[in-house]
Amino acid sequence: MTLISRNPADPDDVLVRLTAPGAFAAADAVERARTAQAAWADAGAAARSAALGAVADAVDAAAAELAALAVREVGKPLAEARAEVARTAAIWRYYAQAPYAPTGAVHETAAGPGLLLTRRRPHGVAGLITPWNFPFAIPTWKAAPALAAGNAVVLKPAPEATACAQRLAELVEQALPDGVFTLVPGGATEGGALVSAADVVSFTGSSGVGRSVVRSATARGIPVQAEMGGLNAALVLPDADFGLAAAHIAASIAGYAGQKCTATSRVIAVGAALDPLREALTEALRAVPVGDPAADGTVCGPLITENARAEVASAWRDLPVLAGGSVPDGPGWYAAPTLVEKVAPGHRLLREEVFGPVAALLTAGDLDHAVRLTNAARYGLVTSVHTADLSAALHGLDRLDTGMVRVNAPSTGVDFHLPFGGSKASSFGPREQGQAALDFYTSSRTYTLSP
Ligand code: NAD
Repeated sequence: MTLISRNPADPDDVLVRLTAPGAFAAADAVERARTAQAAWADAGAAARSAALGAVADAVDAAAAELAALAVREVGKPLAEARAEVARTAAIWRYYAQAPYAPTGAVHETAAGPGLLLTRRRPHGVAGLITPWNFPFAIPTWKAAPALAAGNAVVLKPAPEATACAQRLAELVEQALPDGVFTLVPGGATEGGALVSAADVVSFTGSSGVGRSVVRSATARGIPVQAEMGGLNAALVLPDADFGLAAAHIAASIAGYAGQKCTATSRVIAVGAALDPLREALTEALRAVPVGDPAADGTVCGPLITENARAEVASAWRDLPVLAGGSVPDGPGWYAAPTLVEKVAPGHRLLREEVFGPVAALLTAGDLDHAVRLTNAARYGLVTSVHTADLSAALHGLDRLDTGMVRVNAPSTGVDFHLPFGGSKASSFGPREQGQAALDFYTSSRTYTLSP
């Protein structure tokens, strides 16, 4: 298979054209990583910490170049690309401390003399499969904890982000012993082979692919986690600051052309919030700067592929459009940030993730109704709640069946040291990020020492 990666703002600009290496190469990469892993696990905390810290420094040193590459390859607006690169360095630095943390505990025996020890040990080779939309941060928030815990890593990035992955891999490989980190470019064939060979699998991508990865990995009996799509709601109560809510929601619909798992795609106005919110949000969306992702100030760049743009544009067909609803002239694959209303239950926009800058405006009689509408989706990643009433927010927090709830904040945005993940079709298995990630990439052993 020939793998081609293009600039979505200028599709004639081809960044990568290569022959995908195939299933055998992916399996072989795991075998070679297995040889390197044992020495890496035994290298000691100082060596692993120094290596991860060196990756952080290398990412910082290459920050401008990496951000420009993300702009060019995946159409990420420059400000967001810079923020992603800064976060990438911060994640490497955060996990550089992890090798020094305790990995177990000492316990009394239930009877008689002796000692019981628990200790967390790495699984072996971690197979990481990643999407294109965070081409540096997502590979990093999987690889850094896996490596910190003493695993070797084989990364299979999305084909659309191959150049970003290649550049990140160069920086990582320079800082680590040979064979501890390996990049395998490719698509479903290489990804499937990795799932068949690795000792632990972490996947981020669409829910359909994620389900099949989880099935294969669980059939092999290996640990697996999958972070998948979202159909995230923003709830707006009548006492909200409508200007602020509209700004947050517009950014969550249109930022990076809605191509984030945490993007807002359903806006639920509660009671009297409907009219002021409709007006403020329509105005905010019409004002979003759309265009060249390399230009300062752009918020909404292109969709990743022509097919993705066609799918997004078909989602608002036949619906009353409040803002957007058009496809600006190319060469890039742009779509205007779009808000639609009068969306019937069962419409695709309320059932499936449409990965683009489009959202449906819905109404609810009261907060409980809004919570029911939110929870009706088969996804459960994140919800934002906009209100001046803290007790209303608290009422919502525990009733919303989503992994994350953000009050008076955009639905997008990630604190990389806290557990990240959702419920239902959005996530499977243990959480990513923070301590949860270190637990996922290790398993607990119990040692009995009798005198
Ligand atoms: P995708 O599912 O098409 O691909 C994801 C990865 O899986 C790619 O590396 C792809 O090559 C690989 N793959 C495809 N078929 C495979 C198979 N049969 N076996 C193994 N690997 C296979 O997703 P995408 O288009 O790259 O990314 C967009 C999706 O990712 C959206 O649904 C978005 O919501 C989701 N996403 C989720 C999160 C999260 O943390 N929840 C974060 C970012 C993106």
